[in-house]
Amino acid sequence: ATHEETLGFQTEVKQLLNLMINSLYSNREIFLRELISNGADACDKLRYAALDNDALYEGDSDLRIEIEHNTDAGTVTVRDNGIGMDRDDVIANLGTIARSGTAEFLNQLSGEQQKDAKLIGQFGVGFYSGFIVADEVTVRTRKAGTAADAGVEWHSKGEGEFTVADIERDKHGTEIILHLKEDAKEFADDFRLQNLVRKYSDHIEVPVRMPKTETAKDDEGNEIEGSEVTTWETVNEATALWVRPKSEISDDEYKAFYKHVAHDFSDPLTWSHNKVEGKLEYTSLLYVPSRAPFDLYERDGSRGVKLYVQRVFIMDDAEQFLPLYLRFIKGVLDTRDLSLNVSREILQQDPKVDKIKSALTKRALDMLKKLAKNNEQYQTFWNNFGSVLKEGPGEDFANREKVAGLLRFSTTHTDSTTQDQSLADYVERMKEGQQKIYYIVAESFNAAKNSPHLEIFRKKGIEVLLLNDRVDEWLMSHLTEFDGKALADVAKGELDLGDVEDEEEKKAQEETAKAKEDLVKRVKEALGDGVQDVKVTHRLTDSPACVVLPEHEMGFQMRRIMEAAGQ
Ligand code: ADP
Ligand code: MG
Repeated sequence: ATHEETLGFQTEVKQLLNLMINSLYSNREIFLRELISNGADACDKLRYAALDNDALYEGDSDLRIEIEHNTDAGTVTVRDNGIGMDRDDVIANLGTIARSGTAEFLNQLSGEQQKDAKLIGQFGVGFYSGFIVADEVTVRTRKAGTAADAGVEWHSKGEGEFTVADIERDKHGTEIILHLKEDAKEFADDFRLQNLVRKYSDHIEVPVRMPKTETAKDDEGNEIEGSEVTTWETVNEATALWVRPKSEISDDEYKAFYKHVAHDFSDPLTWSHNKVEGKLEYTSLLYVPSRAPFDLYERDGSRGVKLYVQRVFIMDDAEQFLPLYLRFIKGVLDTRDLSLNVSREILQQDPKVDKIKSALTKRALDMLKKLAKNNEQYQTFWNNFGSVLKEGPGEDFANREKVAGLLRFSTTHTDSTTQDQSLADYVERMKEGQQKIYYIVAESFNAAKNSPHLEIFRKKGIEVLLLNDRVDEWLMSHLTEFDGKALADVAKGELDLGDVEDEEEKKAQEETAKAKEDLVKRVKEALGDGVQDVKVTHRLTDSPACVVLPEHEMGFQMRRIMEAAGQ
């Protein structure tokens, strides 16, 4: 090896390594899944790059992953003949974490094993998970299409630094050698490894092979010396999961595949697998994760589906096929309707993409509707992704009503912070004569719940939605109707309780207003330019006064957002 240098891991990597080793001990077998997943990704990438340049295969287009072990040496090796890495790739990919928001995320970790294990899952463990079972990891790799002397060896004990050196490597692709820790030697075992491959990587399209050595025997049953023949056996199913008929795929297989596609650690909540033939031809497999990824609100957080064209992997994170408000959906789209050399730029212009997008949007919304039949699961979904879904009515006019049906709210019916009441629930409970769905938007849940604007509603037993999420005002400015009923902000404009009020009450109110004209005049003078108008109200039953916004005025939340933006 030449040109050897020792480099320090980025701080975030060091933190992640520490946390992972400590908190994932009881899940440590997942290292194999992560390394196979990376090998499969590397094969996908080579197949894609080779579409334009067959020479990249270097005469070996039989893409595969090989797993070997050496019991005496206590090593496990995972090898692929995929795209490989050059020196810069190695330093960037195996020395840093390039995702934005990582540092902030890692700072949230507490040092409590169980809590952190969950959080790390949310982050995705990846390559570094090798260090859960190994105290030394060696990577040998060469990028496809480069010269034999462009190989790179990476080596680390996972303790803050790693070395990189130039090596000769006649094959392209990557080989990862794990030097197992004393208490992890059990993994250097045929049976164990085979089971793990079947358990976690059956659905990987690339064949995962393991060597099998057979020794011929003579007539008396004795092994003939020097007759050993090693053959490679494919251990996994090795067909793309989404291509197989639904009826033949078990839940466990769907779940395992999700983890590969989503780079997630935990099971998905649900999925929807569809083959479409006709004008458009595509297969989609969409998943709802059970937990928000740490970068859900990052501007450049990863989102979108994994795109395949006729089974050939094209790109990760193809974001053109789902609207932004469904950015939490993960999965695969495989289509015949796009060309193999499609690029992100082309995707933005192709009208077929819009057609598939609207079809996938419907699928995703239907999947959520189905999920909503299970209260507990839907609540998990809502707690994680509800505020993203609330962007829907503003972004997707065509599906406004559908999205509205999926929303959940806190309301005066429960007075609980848990957002678990649907608009349909509300409508069912509407008072006789009530024509509108009432809501209030405030700073915090308590401010909403205790608002003086609610006094009259509570007195009359009329339910009000209690809103205090950042996006709520934006949501309500686009959600003007549900099930034919208008939505009305109780803090804006004239109070109109519809037919819930009787004539007598109305008359009494008018009389009070008349009687107080003098008072109103004096208050108006005192407040001067600070207010637009002062009126007698029957909104209040206990409080003496409250501030009301004009009907079409921007709400408090929007004002604050505009102010923050310097407007
Ligand atoms: P992720 O797979 O989510 O990107 P990983 O930590 O698993 O994260 O891997 C980090 C990066 O290292 C990958 O994105 C890839 O660029 C590179 N990498 C890892 N394993 C391989 C491999 N076998 N072949 C080529 N590149 C790899
Ligand atoms: Mg990975």
